[in-house]
Amino acid sequence: MEANADPNCVFCKIVAGQIPCASVLETDEALAFLDINPLARGHVLLIPKRHAAKLDDLNASQAGGVLRHLPALGKAVRQATGCQGYNVLQNNGRVAHQEVMHVHFHIIPRFKGDDFQFNWPAGGYAEGEIEQVREAIRSALES
Ligand code: 5GP
Ligand code: ZN
Repeated sequence: MEANADPNCVFCKIVAGQIPCASVLETDEALAFLDINPLARGHVLLIPKRHAAKLDDLNASQAGGVLRHLPALGKAVRQATGCQGYNVLQNNGRVAHQEVMHVHFHIIPRFKGDDFQFNWPAGGYAEGEIEQVREAIRSALES
């Protein structure tokens, strides 16, 4: 198994070859394969080979080693499936619908009239609130 592998993690088992997958791309750092329960034909998962639960558990270099493949994968999925568009989705934490606790990016082909619906409850900010939130995030980035 990879350094830092979790023997109970289903994606670590896929990386180690203990569970088969339909892979489409493999490098030293990253693996991409078809989701076994796709939201659409051609739904791909892109993962770091190294186990990390959430996106922010990766350092910038590790994240780059995975994310660099997204443009080519998006293009390949578009060409292979004939989809009109695609969503890149990345869930962190149970509250965000993460079920497999190993970082992964979903590439989900979209077709006109498909039934994949987002509930997107867009809100707004009270007077002055956006500046407070901005400052909180900026200072967290600096710390
Ligand atoms: P999450 O909800 O954690 O963002 O998504 C996890 C995804 O992993 C799901 O879409 C699920 O279908 C997929 N998945 C879970 N187990 C396996 C597996 O053993 N093989 C493959 N190829 N996909 C899996
Ligand atoms: Zn893992």
